[in-house]
Amino acid sequence: MKNQPERALVLRRFPWSESSLVVHVLTREHGRVNLLAKGAYRPKSRFFAVLDLFDELELVWTGAQERELKTLVEGELLVRRAGISRDLGCYEVGVAILELAHLGSRPEKNERELFDLVTKTMDGLESRARKGGGKSAERLRVEFELGFLKLHGLAPALLGCASCGGSAPPVAAEGAGKARAWFSAGAGGRLCGTCAGEARASGRRVGTLPLDVLAEADRMYLAKDQANDHALPEERLERVRDFVERFLDYQLELRPRSHQKFLEHANRNSP
Ligand SMILES: [Zn+2]
Repeated sequence: MKNQPERALVLRRFPWSESSLVVHVLTREHGRVNLLAKGAYRPKSRFFAVLDLFDELELVWTGAQERELKTLVEGELLVRRAGISRDLGCYEVGVAILELAHLGSRPEKNERELFDLVTKTMDGLESRARKGGGKSAERLRVEFELGFLKLHGLAPALLGCASCGGSAPPVAAEGAGKARAWFSAGAGGRLCGTCAGEARASGRRVGTLPLDVLAEADRMYLAKDQANDHALPEERLERVRDFVERFLDYQLELRPRSHQKFLEHANRNSP
């Protein structure tokens, strides 16, 4: 069984035997697909240097649907994004995004939204790596993570109360610290005082987060202020990333490799 040519991005590559390669790819229509590219390391192979990370490809494979490993029969490069690999910051973010795309994609299911989100982010990284300017790699990372949560139906409530849908005023100020709001990952995000009390009584963990982090995450959410791309101080971006990645890890019930080093640091949003 041969598929129609399909757009794909390589998520992972593994050497296989002397000269072949196994690749896990994200496709638009068939989600995650595992492919054997025979002879991919031979200079004369038609797959030689086609199966690189970050590039957009068009692939055709064969193999019964229930087989875990299909055989790649045609591979064509659609969009080369060679800049990402030449800029360390962009490369790190690119690898992190592929890791999340691998974790968040289903085999043999349509993953159009995820595919388009990954593609858009890779285009941003490539443009940043080549021309500078525009959004920083770190900002593209956090916007991707927020978009990833959204398309999996896991987006946290950032402005209103996750539980009752009403407004969620700041916690009564305790001293001179920055304004904060109740927040519970288990309850789905920001909470009002009443719902925070109820969540705690039912055994959920409830903490607080700074208002500026929640407001910034909301602005970055699906990159919705793209038209008005204000400069974002690095320190605040780090705190937004800290919040988003801890929330994401909670929802995934695991900590991706690309989050580990960053989150070894004490919580940057602790009171
Ligand atoms: Zn509430």
